[in-house]
Amino acid sequence: MNNEILPGEMRRVISRRRFLEYVAFGTGLLAWPLNIKAETKHYLIVGAGIVGTAIAYALEQAGEKVTLIDKDFPAAHASGKTFAWINATYPKQSFNYHLLSRLGVNVYQKWDAHLELKINWKGSLEWFKNNDENQNMLKKVEVIQGFGSEAEIISKEEALGYEPNVLLNQNFITRSPRDGVINPVQAIKKMIQGIQSKGGKVIFPAEFLELTTNKGGVIAKTSHGLIRADKIVYACGTGSNLVAQGEYLKPSTPGLIVTSKPFKQTINKILVGPGVHVYQRRDGVVILGEQGKPPTNHDQRLSQRPEQFPNQPLSIEHGQRIVKLAANFIPKFKDLLIEKVEIGWRPLPLDGKPVIGFLNKYEYLATMHSGISLAPIVAELVRDELMFDVKSELLNDFRPQRFL
Ligand SMILES: Cc1cc2nc3c(=O)[nH]c(=O)nc-3n(C[C@H](O)[C@H](O)[C@H](O)COP(=O)(O)OP(=O)(O)OC[C@H]3O[C@@H](n4cnc5c(N)ncnc54)[C@H](O)[C@@H]3O)c2cc1C
Repeated sequence: MNNEILPGEMRRVISRRRFLEYVAFGTGLLAWPLNIKAETKHYLIVGAGIVGTAIAYALEQAGEKVTLIDKDFPAAHASGKTFAWINATYPKQSFNYHLLSRLGVNVYQKWDAHLELKINWKGSLEWFKNNDENQNMLKKVEVIQGFGSEAEIISKEEALGYEPNVLLNQNFITRSPRDGVINPVQAIKKMIQGIQSKGGKVIFPAEFLELTTNKGGVIAKTSHGLIRADKIVYACGTGSNLVAQGEYLKPSTPGLIVTSKPFKQTINKILVGPGVHVYQRRDGVVILGEQGKPPTNHDQRLSQRPEQFPNQPLSIEHGQRIVKLAANFIPKFKDLLIEKVEIGWRPLPLDGKPVIGFLNKYEYLATMHSGISLAPIVAELVRDELMFDVKSELLNDFRPQRFL
């Protein structure tokens, strides 16, 4: 049967039924069903971080018309200053959140192959200094094992087999074999090339200012002029409350990311150790992220949400503090030299879970804490919700309406 000659409503019903079959058989997550074609629509995506860019890319790949705008530039904020660990580890505890994250890793593998993202699927090892915290982690790992996770608890000896240069103070360590790390700036660049090569528009700097709607869709007032579209998607990271005019996020907290100069290969996996997480890239560069909160004597300066340190000596001082935490369990890193230290601000939903869904017929919101890990799966599910007017069960626990 040729969908092109069907009247609009019947075509939509068939599209929905076929779509649900794809979801039921699980293939909807892994391959876009090219034989289902609704009318081409124009989507305006606000925010060119990893979430907005991935949504725009998924829509464009599916044959839709897309305009992606950013008030600054692609990857200007959280997505450019992140540890970039792709994971479905034990803190993602409710079953649905775990499932979304775990399926998200599968979808990433597909995007990795298509886009040649060169994701480093190293897997991770995680442990705590303190026994109680370690025991608590092990219990939570058992919970996600019950959900089907491949995370496992291994002995210190086995862990040392993977990481001979690391000092371990615990007898049991969590190993998550499917975790990876990505270069999100490069990934966003590749997606944007993909969008543009299919005729999509990427405009920056272009700040979204105001929206009016009419029967035909939306008219967005931006610093770049008026943009008309059928629907608008807000993927504004920490700016989501303002742009979507609601209370979805709590105040953002900062995290420091240290990039080293290239160093002799010393560690193999993503290590989530006491006070710091760390991995080493193929080019020898070590990336470190602080796990704790910043010292309180920085509160006043941080209230301005800076993304840079006021001066180089202060930046190096903080970087050295973090390198020292890593050198406590990777002694060779005491000789690590710092290339740069960046401050990233996290979008933090009120209950820690993603916020994804229609606000009304025209406006859609997508913001989350673990945006690097979730961007591809969220992009595919959002694409399908926008195009086929269906609701993905995988997203049911994460609707914006829970905060209203
Ligand atoms: C230090 C740190 C470490 C992290 N580690 C990890 C990790 O290991 N794994 C993981 O999964 N996640 C991690 N995260 C979280 C992850 O980086 C974020 O969830 C993700 O980058 C959010 O992407 P985003 O596209 O939603 O937001 P952003 O990257 O912030 O993009 C939003 C974009 O919207 C634009 N924008 C805002 N308002 C407007 C407007 N009015 N008009 C136009 N454009 C607008 C902004 O300029 C920005 O470019 C970390 C975050 C930090 C800060």
